[in-house]
Amino acid sequence: NQRIVLASRPFGSPKADNFRLEEAAIPTPAAGEVLLRTVYLSLDPYMRGRMSEAKSYADPVAIDAVMVGATVCQVVSSKNPKFSEGQWVLAYTGWQTYGISDGSDLMPLGDNPTNPSFALGIMGMPGFTAYMGLLDIGQPKNGDTLVVAAATGPVGATVGQIGKLKGCYVVGVAGGAEKCRYAVEVLGFDACIDHHSDNFAEQLAKACPQGIDIYFENVGGKVFDAVLPILNTGARIPVCGLISQYNATELPPEPDRLSLLMGTLLVKRIKMQGFIIFDDYGHRYHEFASDMSQWLAEGKIHYREHLVEGLDKAPDAFIGLLEGKNFGKLTIKIS
Ligand code: NDP
Repeated sequence: NQRIVLASRPFGSPKADNFRLEEAAIPTPAAGEVLLRTVYLSLDPYMRGRMSEAKSYADPVAIDAVMVGATVCQVVSSKNPKFSEGQWVLAYTGWQTYGISDGSDLMPLGDNPTNPSFALGIMGMPGFTAYMGLLDIGQPKNGDTLVVAAATGPVGATVGQIGKLKGCYVVGVAGGAEKCRYAVEVLGFDACIDHHSDNFAEQLAKACPQGIDIYFENVGGKVFDAVLPILNTGARIPVCGLISQYNATELPPEPDRLSLLMGTLLVKRIKMQGFIIFDDYGHRYHEFASDMSQWLAEGKIHYREHLVEGLDKAPDAFIGLLEGKNFGKLTIKIS
């Protein structure tokens, strides 16, 4: 059994030596438990938060403990009557090649799923996040201008595509020309602006001639600074993530924009609401699953994965995720 543990807590960007690859014996399941072999491991931005000691909505990973994460696994052996050998499951066994579960946290995916890894992306946590954040908090209406950053990642790409299905004018923000081209040509966004360009704020304003009705917040920082002045009266802001700040070690430079933000919220009667997907919407997963499986079957939603082979590649791939090096849902394939 190979596993990656948290060796030390990062200051700023995580480094390779914050992780340690270990060899351990393959665990033996006790009565009621199943032994799982990891086939896919999901790497997600929230893991940066778990590497820190700071209090959040979930406990940090302890030093020397296996890094947390959702996995798609096959049952190797079962001492739990609900699961049988060979069955595929969505599990939370983390960054390791074998794991044990008592079954309570497993979601069965069948004996022969067509796209097992989709359970970590478009049919799983990121897709669900996009769906609930946009539909429940964003309240899209026909003709609304919707802006979303990290536009080619699993959350942003799904937000924009659902926005199109709801009749929105969709403007993406992404890192680089290739990602922007993909957002427009494949995902069907109306425009996509590269946040690395010098006159990014100017370009964004030009791409949103009617202002912004929904800003789906994935990144914060300079993207939010560019969005704030062009928000419309009555705009909605689902606050999903602030990835540009996850590696920050200090507050952003002066001037303090807090009163500008509060003033804008007040004068323009803007609704800004954070959410944590499973805590707030876990009970509505079936609504999402039913709509999304239909959209996928009808070819209305595209899903792109960025597959990386080998557990040992997970630390580097994860460090890259926080720098925009992934292009699509970052997933580790374990052979
Ligand atoms: P992505 O696969 O989209 O990966 C993150 C992307 O963020 C990068 O590829 C990069 O894309 C972009 N990015 C990184 N740094 C910056 C920066 N400084 N400025 C602008 N963009 C940056 O991730 P996900 O789709 O999985 O997640 C998107 C967001 O949703 C994250 O903030 C995540 O924490 C949040 N989230 C929240 C949940 C909730 O329950 N609230 C649940 C799931 C996700 P690019 O190169 O295009 O800039």
